Amino acid sequence: MEDANPVIHLHVAILDREKCHPKKCNHECQYYCPPVRSGTPTIEFVDYQDQPVINEPLCIGCGICVKRCPFGAIKIVSLPEEPGESIHRFGVNAFRLYSIPALEKGKVTAILGKNGLGKTTALNILSGVTVPNLGDYEKKGEMDAVIEHFSGTVIGDYFRDLYSGKTRVVLKNQYVDKIPRVKSGKVSEILKAGDETSNLDLVSERLGIAGIMTRDIRECSGGELQKVAIAATLLRDADTILIDEMSSYLDIGERVGISLLIQEIARKKSIMIVEHDLAILDWLADTVYPVYGEPGAYGIIASPRTSSRAINSFLEGFLREENVRIREYPIQFTNRSWRRTAAGQIILEWKDISKTLGEFTLTSSEGKLKSGEVVGCLGRNGTGKTTFAKLMAGELEPDSGSFSSSLKIAYKPQYIYSDYSGTSEDLLKSALKIRYDETFNRAEIFRPLDINELLSTTVSDLSGGELQRLSIALTLAMEADLYLLDEPSAHLDSSYRMTAAKVIRRVMENNRKSAMVIDHDLYFIDLIADELMIFSGVPASSGHSTGPMNMRDGMNNFLSSVGITFRRDGQSGRPRINKPGSSLDKQQRESGEYYYLHQQ
Ligand code: ADP
Ligand code: SF4
Repeated sequence: MEDANPVIHLHVAILDREKCHPKKCNHECQYYCPPVRSGTPTIEFVDYQDQPVINEPLCIGCGICVKRCPFGAIKIVSLPEEPGESIHRFGVNAFRLYSIPALEKGKVTAILGKNGLGKTTALNILSGVTVPNLGDYEKKGEMDAVIEHFSGTVIGDYFRDLYSGKTRVVLKNQYVDKIPRVKSGKVSEILKAGDETSNLDLVSERLGIAGIMTRDIRECSGGELQKVAIAATLLRDADTILIDEMSSYLDIGERVGISLLIQEIARKKSIMIVEHDLAILDWLADTVYPVYGEPGAYGIIASPRTSSRAINSFLEGFLREENVRIREYPIQFTNRSWRRTAAGQIILEWKDISKTLGEFTLTSSEGKLKSGEVVGCLGRNGTGKTTFAKLMAGELEPDSGSFSSSLKIAYKPQYIYSDYSGTSEDLLKSALKIRYDETFNRAEIFRPLDINELLSTTVSDLSGGELQRLSIALTLAMEADLYLLDEPSAHLDSSYRMTAAKVIRRVMENNRKSAMVIDHDLYFIDLIADELMIFSGVPASSGHSTGPMNMRDGMNNFLSSVGITFRRDGQSGRPRINKPGSSLDKQQRESGEYYYLHQQ
């Protein structure tokens, strides 16, 4: 919050129930709590083996329990006042959500904010899966109480229609990789079983999944599962569609295609999305609700604004209307395509590489990589980006052609492992040895990526975004000449994407090392890359890489194949997707400037 020295009246205490192991500790939280020591029951254990209850009104917010808990299970957040009426609380010392966004017929509405602030909780409430308890966590939520509480408001009418069955709602879950665990059979069988609109052929054609209809769901890639999940959602006869992240695993062309489809559908329905690709969110959403607060502790859904205004505020790090700072520094884009750092010497060259894997063949023109630079790799799914990364990393041998030298490479694969049985700290220590304690790694990599809060968690229990942060940190902290990062933005929220971009650049600039980053989030690539490598071809059949080349040529080369142009936001200078067919779009296509408008 902006206020320099606010008077604190509320201490929100959060106990992470998965991290708290009262049988394995000496109840240090209670033992060291100053009010408990002077006889006030601020922390209580109902039974010795139970988890503690932290009595918020009696807490003085000293934070001693946070430091003393051996498992890092407690979080205390001090606030000047209760941030409004709580819509839902999960329990004592658990997350609480303040306010709820409203939908609008004929519009796409979005929620934008960090993970852990309650976006999914809000979608679950709007879908009817969770009936909000209005802050009284000792009772189950009651529909009548919710209708009564919101009566006379737009959202009150929504809940009345939802609970009476007048409004039909469908929700697309964010965890598409779990679909094969709950569904079995061919894609066509799964989609037909849930088709209430008889539009299967049309929807599958538009989503580009007509060719995988006979495939078993267990054999689908992440991108295919995402498209199947979106198809299943759009085939339901619903008035309201809620979509929790639609772009993970999809390439830019697919993101744009699905956005166009959603915009068409939105004319007759109400749609709400949670999306972390800001270029797509900006283009797709009419109205955006920013959400702020403390991840895992509380989330406040702010008042709605246009997508442009919401994203500019997000990048600026300040919500003017609420007078709330959400980041210490602003994120800036510039309309310039020259490199950020002076190119160093050539560290790697390659020429005429080719590799065949089953039905797929990758070829590569000649390329050079220099020290101190970050190369962004763009291309459709299935055109060989990961194959090229594996060839560079030495995981695969080329059939012909070769690389000029064998560099020491640190590689973060696209699909990251999670079956390690130890904690995050065990993994970092065993992989990094003495580098784990290096000041640069701690200050410039671990701290910005908030690795400390993951240290005591078992790696297999980390969420997708947490595992991604850990993997990026682990890769960047290694000793290497070249850092290969395959889809580092996947599962990260927009905030961590911006942080990761900053961290990657700082490591390369500071240590004069090189990185190749494969990603589909154009804002992310724009923020990190000095040069671009472009992959073209026919997905799953043939791929060809060109470059590295300068940003302007790279963006023009890539975006002309995707068919989208960008203009610049007047206020922030950030790139914005042009409406296809608009006069600006036509003009830029004709002049061949897809991304950098006024070349200086
Ligand atoms: P987002 O979608 O913004 O990432 P979520 O709505 O998933 O946020 O979660 C907000 C917080 O609520 C998280 O800290 C999460 O751990 C917590 N939470 C979610 N479900 C429950 C539950 N059933 N019991 C307790 N806490 C929960
Ligand atoms: Fe006790 Fe301080 Fe923890 Fe509050 S923050 S529960 S007063 S140790």
